[in-house]
Amino acid sequence: MTTVAAPTAPTAEAGPPLPTDVTVAIAGSGFSGLGMAIRLKQEGFEDFVVLERADEVGGTWHHNTYPGCGCDVPSHLYSFSFGQNPDWSHTYSSQPEIRDYLGRCAERYGLAPHLRLGCELTSAAWDEQASRWRIKTSRGPLSARVLVSAMGPLSDPKIPPLPGLERFEGTTFHSARWDHAYDLDGKRVASIGTGASAIQYVPAIQPRVEQLHVFQRTPPWVLPHTDRPTTRLERRLYRALPALQRLVRGGIYVGRETLVLGFVKNPRLMRVVDALAQRHIRRNVRDPELRRKVTPSYTIGCKRILPSNKWYPTLTQPNVELVTEGVKEVRAASIVTEDGVERPIDAIILGTGFNVTDMPAAKLIRGSDGRPLEECWRGSPRAHLGTAIAGFPNLFLLLGPNTGLGHSSMVYMAESQIAYVLSAVRAMSEGRIESVEVRPDTVASYNGRLEERMESTVWSTGCASWYLDDTGRNATLWPDWTWRFRRRTASFDAADYRVVADARREPAGVTA
Ligand SMILES: Cc1cc2nc3c(=O)[nH]c(=O)nc-3n(C[C@H](O)[C@H](O)[C@H](O)COP(=O)(O)OP(=O)(O)OC[C@H]3O[C@@H](n4cnc5c(N)ncnc54)[C@H](O)[C@@H]3O)c2cc1C
Repeated sequence: MTTVAAPTAPTAEAGPPLPTDVTVAIAGSGFSGLGMAIRLKQEGFEDFVVLERADEVGGTWHHNTYPGCGCDVPSHLYSFSFGQNPDWSHTYSSQPEIRDYLGRCAERYGLAPHLRLGCELTSAAWDEQASRWRIKTSRGPLSARVLVSAMGPLSDPKIPPLPGLERFEGTTFHSARWDHAYDLDGKRVASIGTGASAIQYVPAIQPRVEQLHVFQRTPPWVLPHTDRPTTRLERRLYRALPALQRLVRGGIYVGRETLVLGFVKNPRLMRVVDALAQRHIRRNVRDPELRRKVTPSYTIGCKRILPSNKWYPTLTQPNVELVTEGVKEVRAASIVTEDGVERPIDAIILGTGFNVTDMPAAKLIRGSDGRPLEECWRGSPRAHLGTAIAGFPNLFLLLGPNTGLGHSSMVYMAESQIAYVLSAVRAMSEGRIESVEVRPDTVASYNGRLEERMESTVWSTGCASWYLDDTGRNATLWPDWTWRFRRRTASFDAADYRVVADARREPAGVTA
């Protein structure tokens, strides 16, 4: 295990010119893409490239720079298992710290020669005859034997269809593309949405603005946050005894995993969590009308549970109004709600989340019959192990369909998939395999079992959430223990795939 400690900052360079052909092309440089690249390198694979449209690595943690942005999962768990950081300043890290950690990982593991920043994948099409992915990017074309899509489940900001938004003459921006040049001091601000991002930035900007109108469609369930600064002693101990940090990480993992009992196995157990959340409201909100507005009517856990000690106190501040009426119309300098009330507004902040089940990346990738992934999915993404798709040979998705979690670290899921992809790449290299394509019956039976298991989860108790796709199916979450996912992805099973061998080819891509 390597320790990835502070304090060097990441450097952003576009990287060398694009190669014409590689064994593995990875699109995206968040936790998933970087993790994949690091593990390939650790296994001795050098013939790969990482394509990243942004000018820095970090993914989510590069793009989301809004005030108060941070992680909901303890840092010891929300970090690479192979790159622990003894120096986290808090038990739950803030965005700049996670971004810097990822930058240091890229540096520490020598990814610079493989990174192509400012390089957007604009299309990828499978060339059956050549058994190659033909990839077009903003910096030119290349081909690859294997394409790993690590373009992120929460990567593309969702802009809501607010009537008249295009006529608004003030400033508008999405929380994931925060406009730091805009001075919020003394402004009348409308914040749309009360999801995971809004409950972090609303308390952070409230003291600065003149008036803050928080537009809420459905209230979130909010629990007390247990974040605290780490002590110097803890950091010293973790530096000296990495095994201790691994032990703490293991304890956090097990603690989080017990929530699966309530989320998946028996939603009635969520009553305990419900009682904690109700108490959190009672303690922080005195006004009965505001209490009513912030108390959700759906089962706790059906939508993402959010931790915050600042959310409710912020909503009680004199310059904050929680608006529960729907938006009827946005005008040049105001917002009108369904009840006819017009509020003058200088800036609109869209805390409206991401295109999750309709991710734009699905438009870019075309399989063996030339159809884009989006068309094959028809509004309801399905994959084998969230990773492989029938009709798309040698394509592996990281954090694809049904790999999301409501209770633990997505990095754990990404690392599980990375092990699986590594195992596939190794099998292809050693076995002189030209291409692997998951069998449609494998995908169907895997997803059939997932759907059965999903039926009795808390996510199927009737709320509308971003976990659900266009057909109402939960295409986002993993409905089981996470260790089961890890076990399923521990190694690539060729029996699940249509395998095309090439006896002429020498084992490729390994330089170790
Ligand atoms: C504000 C916020 C807070 C979160 N908090 C938590 C948390 O507490 N716990 C948790 O487990 N998860 C959390 N998540 C989920 C988080 O997205 C995942 O944990 C994880 O960071 C995803 O990593 P990724 O590498 O798969 O995707 P991303 O981090 O989204 O990286 C995808 C990368 O792909 C790049 N890309 C996209 N399209 C292209 C293209 N066409 N060409 C080239 N590059 C492209 C993007 O620029 C981006 O850099 C949070 C997400 C957000 C937005």
